[in-house]
Amino acid sequence: MAQTRTRFANYWLEQALAEEGDSTLPAPPLEGDASCDVAIVGGGYTGLWTAIELKARDPVLDVRLIEKHICGWGASSRNAGYLLNMWAKYPTMRRLFGTERALAVGRAADAALEEVVSFCARNGIDAEIARRGWLWGATLPQSAAEWRPLVDALEPYQVAPLRELSAEEIADRWGLTGLHGGAIDDKAGHLQPGKLVRGLRRVAIERGVTIHENTPMTRLHRASPPRLETPRGTLRAKRIVLGIYAWAAQLPELRRSLAVTGYANAVTAAMPERLEKSGFADAPAFNDTRNMINSLRPTAGGRVMFGKPGTALAWAGNTGEAFEHDTAWLLDGQRRHRELDPIMPGLEAAYAWSGPIDRTRDGLPFFGRLPGAPDILYATGFSGDGVGPCRMAGKAMAAMAMDEDGAWADFGLVRPPMQDLPPEPVRWIGVRMVRAALRRSDDAVHAGRRPEPLTRGLTGLISVGIASRSDE
Ligand SMILES: Cc1cc2nc3c(=O)[nH]c(=O)nc-3n(C[C@H](O)[C@H](O)[C@H](O)COP(=O)(O)OP(=O)(O)OC[C@H]3O[C@@H](n4cnc5c(N)ncnc54)[C@H](O)[C@@H]3O)c2cc1C
Repeated sequence: MAQTRTRFANYWLEQALAEEGDSTLPAPPLEGDASCDVAIVGGGYTGLWTAIELKARDPVLDVRLIEKHICGWGASSRNAGYLLNMWAKYPTMRRLFGTERALAVGRAADAALEEVVSFCARNGIDAEIARRGWLWGATLPQSAAEWRPLVDALEPYQVAPLRELSAEEIADRWGLTGLHGGAIDDKAGHLQPGKLVRGLRRVAIERGVTIHENTPMTRLHRASPPRLETPRGTLRAKRIVLGIYAWAAQLPELRRSLAVTGYANAVTAAMPERLEKSGFADAPAFNDTRNMINSLRPTAGGRVMFGKPGTALAWAGNTGEAFEHDTAWLLDGQRRHRELDPIMPGLEAAYAWSGPIDRTRDGLPFFGRLPGAPDILYATGFSGDGVGPCRMAGKAMAAMAMDEDGAWADFGLVRPPMQDLPPEPVRWIGVRMVRAALRRSDDAVHAGRRPEPLTRGLTGLISVGIASRSDE
């Protein structure tokens, strides 16, 4: 069947596809009944890294990947492109996994970040990687030490990811005024996410992975060996790897571990002179200290990208149209100006889009074998931090698909589904209440008020902001 292009409402993916031109039309869908060694569902970072890693381990392995739209359609092209490690989540990890295992995950995430950079360099993927760091900036005087507990907790282990910066230095270097100081992680950076995921797709194909696009998995048979159905065929495999991100919430085994919420991003028109003059052209990836975090970064083309969580909310894990187009929350002028104007005034979106976030209650991903179906593997729950960590997930998935679980057996993120979120309708109502409380809390503290007790109680129910405040 002849494949055609559809339009994708996402700035990064459209830019990446425009550069590819017509040389890469969608890969043909799966037709008929087939079998392979490893079948991967999902053509984002998780699925593609898994495929590439499997081929690196065994070049003759028959690896097939199916994707319901085109590779990169999901979060892997819609994100803000923050390339981060996971040290900011160390306090949560230490509470859950203990010190040694938390440090091991932190080090693995550090390595994953380096591997993304070196893999792109070795394989000609120009993902516009700019290692200008990640800046955590305080929007209130009392937030100016928010990173200290993290810095102190890591110091005994000679891990020092953050360096403090004064408000003056931040304003002088990047034109970000209105902050009360910050801390920077110099190893982090930002990139063009669409170009990264499309580059991974190219490399996977070059290494012999068979990709079927426009091929949704419509049914998963949890037998041994497992099998999946698609509209025009079936695929049987020794192992099936699910790299389906927030859509994993549609599986009964994983549903109670994920709350799927929306996140909106926007880019301004190109304004290279303003960015050069202010210094923002060379700015790090920026997040603030709010519960409902603001994101702000420059693009290689002289635009500003800004983003914010808190758009749509999925009922029972079902994501609909709202998750692609719900940008009202971000674009609401009054709110945007109140929240971002003191930091970078006058941002106007030229292009906005949104996407789902696969939130876990603890804000950490989880990898493993589906309960009752050990030949089916999953990696999900990235909670807004997947650009670097998905590399780690791909390595874990590949090892487990080849029954080499050994090195990952004690890895903190390899864990059964937590099942720690309530069923519907309690979850939907609960997440709405918590989210409203997070906004109220942000509004109150930025207006110099103490949030009322109910708001404080609700915000303590979930890990929010950059570090987990529920640990304090
Ligand atoms: C708006 C937004 C901003 C973000 N910002 C950042 C950031 O700056 N830094 C960061 O580290 N992380 C960020 N993230 C998170 C990051 O993008 C994700 O963690 C990461 O892309 C997950 O990759 P993935 O491959 O697991 O998922 P995806 O890229 O979503 O891939 C999953 C794929 O599975 C496919 N699929 C689903 N169901 C089926 C099915 N039944 N059959 C076949 N295919 C199926 C989907 O079409 C999709 O392409 C952000 C996410 C969003 C949405």
